[in-house]
Amino acid sequence: MYAISVILDVPLRNNYSYSCNQFIATGTRVIIEFRNQEQVAWVKNCVPIAQFTDFPPEKLKPIIHISNDTLILTDEIWQMCEFTAKYYHHPLGTTIFSAVPPTLKKIAEPSINLPQQCYYTANEVATIPRGKKQLQLFEQLRQTKLSETQIRAIYGSNPSKILEKWLEQNLIKISPPPPKYSTVSQLELNLEQQEVCQQIQTKFNQFHVGLLYGITGSGKTEVFLHLIREMLEQNKQVLVIVPEINLTPQLATRFNTRFPYAKISLINSEIADKARFNAWLEAKNGTTDIILGTRLSVFTPTSRLGLIIVDEEHDDSFKQNDGLRYNARDLAVWRAKFNQIPIILASATPSLETLYNYKLGKYTLYKLTQRAVEAATLPKIELINLQHYPVNYAGICQPALTEIHNCLERQELALVFINRRGYAPVITCYECGWVSQCRYCSTNMVYHHEKRQLKCHHCGYQIPVPPICPSCKNQYLHTVGHGTQKLEEFLAEKFPNARIKRVDRDTTSTKIAWQEIYDNVNQHKIDILVGTQMLAKGHDFPNLTLVIGLNLDNALFSYDFRAGEDMFNILTQVSGRAGRADKTGTVLLQTNYPAHPVYQFLQQHDFNGFINHTLKERQLNQLPPFSYYALVKLTSPDEAKLKAALQDLYAQAKIIKHDGVTLFSPVPAVMYKSHNRFRGQMLTCSKNRNQLHGYLSQLEDVLPKLKGVSISIDVDPLEV
Ligand code: ADP
Ligand code: ZN
Ligand code: ZN
Repeated sequence: MYAISVILDVPLRNNYSYSCNQFIATGTRVIIEFRNQEQVAWVKNCVPIAQFTDFPPEKLKPIIHISNDTLILTDEIWQMCEFTAKYYHHPLGTTIFSAVPPTLKKIAEPSINLPQQCYYTANEVATIPRGKKQLQLFEQLRQTKLSETQIRAIYGSNPSKILEKWLEQNLIKISPPPPKYSTVSQLELNLEQQEVCQQIQTKFNQFHVGLLYGITGSGKTEVFLHLIREMLEQNKQVLVIVPEINLTPQLATRFNTRFPYAKISLINSEIADKARFNAWLEAKNGTTDIILGTRLSVFTPTSRLGLIIVDEEHDDSFKQNDGLRYNARDLAVWRAKFNQIPIILASATPSLETLYNYKLGKYTLYKLTQRAVEAATLPKIELINLQHYPVNYAGICQPALTEIHNCLERQELALVFINRRGYAPVITCYECGWVSQCRYCSTNMVYHHEKRQLKCHHCGYQIPVPPICPSCKNQYLHTVGHGTQKLEEFLAEKFPNARIKRVDRDTTSTKIAWQEIYDNVNQHKIDILVGTQMLAKGHDFPNLTLVIGLNLDNALFSYDFRAGEDMFNILTQVSGRAGRADKTGTVLLQTNYPAHPVYQFLQQHDFNGFINHTLKERQLNQLPPFSYYALVKLTSPDEAKLKAALQDLYAQAKIIKHDGVTLFSPVPAVMYKSHNRFRGQMLTCSKNRNQLHGYLSQLEDVLPKLKGVSISIDVDPLEV
């Protein structure tokens, strides 16, 4: 008999033990009984029962079911979960359960039936007997992406005819299968790209972090494709992590066209459970060659991983902001180290953390300084001083409108960027000062025009716009500020012949919606794009020559020390969209503070200047990356309980020895109330990462004593 300690999906840090008459390996999925319910658990370790001394072994309940070995977590993923749990001070149980696909969290043993891929030579096909084999092949045919109707439309309706034709057209042609790395068309790399690739190739088969820094359109993706090809040739897998779900189809298409014989798996939260589970299995068993996914794909098991690529590495969406608060970029670096393989972090505007690591000598810099397509030049960036040119009710000024007019005359695409969706950020009563506040959050409800609704962008609560002021019954309510809808409405009036498309989370939340926009832009069916920062990320609009940025100044005076960096990045990305291919672009930024360093650096395209300026500022104030931060966050539906718990936390926190760690008094969160819960936090920081983590580990032990609050720890938070 063996005693087996397992990890459950519970936020407790305990181990639970069970018995079994056979040895079970770490990482095995099992079903056990816990609190009178069957539950999924993962085996942590297994010892002969004689060595088990925690309590009388006869009290151990037996393991109910042991899953198929195919479902075991690889040693790498297991260790990665342990590291993640430790680094982010999160329970191992909830960490593992966040890392595995949803199918594995269910009691039912998932059925493993992966579509088989097999190839026949022409001779084999000739000898295929009619009957059973034929039906099998027909079954395979149906497992291609075509629907039954599509198959019939192409091949007719007689099964044996279908089969013959299909074999003729597919199997015979592709047998034996060409190597995975075969490319249909490969671009000739320019000199810079060649040099970068050559240098990175010398680092294959060892741990190496490369920062690929190249302006938008400089051919970074082309460098990925080249490196991937090398990897495929060496029969290695590649993991490519991108920030936006919307970016995956576009990139997947580019990968697919380049490597039609490689197996590419998409992993993101929009992929249905079954497909995601299959992708997980196929990555694990080595069937998959390229894994392309969003942050959660960092937990995908592999069997022959050779390279990791993190595209747009500066992007905030690599950080998960609830539950397990991990940063996929940072975990990806851990994985590269574990596997002793290279990782490429790519961006046109690398994060300060990454640049700092480069300055410390930990990362190697690879630069692409020119646009890959000849004749394309950087856009001209102009600042419109709003002191001289006031904005109208929709938030846009006359010189900007003139430029849009000219752009329409030239039949080119204009993009107007404003970082707020909805019609107006708030409605108010001028008589009594009433404003549309969310009843569950300390934030305003945004006015949405189409349905005449007020919507909280934080918790999603929505109500119809009140016909009169709810407070003083005044008949007139006013919209204040600007949003995408108001802008769209205004532009439609001003340029009645222009075809305008609004892009924000209200209109464009799905891949299909994105694809449609992309197609329409390519077919010149859109003249003006109006949208939020969704437009800034990675999309390539060939005919775009004018970008206008509105409402930018807020970021300069934000409580968030990263706001300036974020704005700089977004504007660089959005500007990078202008004037690709053979057309020069213009970028107009409306601001009240044209002399502000952020705008000056932007205008000069001086990313290095901006970075040095910002790093100096951070160093002066001992902000990250010059010091390590962790937040202890408490929330409660009961304000009094929150306040009491925060005081209690601070009292306890001070007692623990905290050499080299600074504790700040607890404060209300910026968004004090959210989803009807009150929120507070205590910031801790240190110049020494290990000291901070040692301290947090001790603090973890006192946290369960806090009453009436939910608690989470946010390590390396993106917002404080
Ligand atoms: P990035 O990822 O840096 O934005 P891409 O790799 O998408 O840049 O390249 C931008 C454009 O330039 C694409 O249309 C791509 O096909 C083209 N391109 C990249 N490298 C080359 C090259 N060596 N020769 C010709 N065209 C290239
Ligand atoms: Zn009023
Ligand atoms: Zn709300």
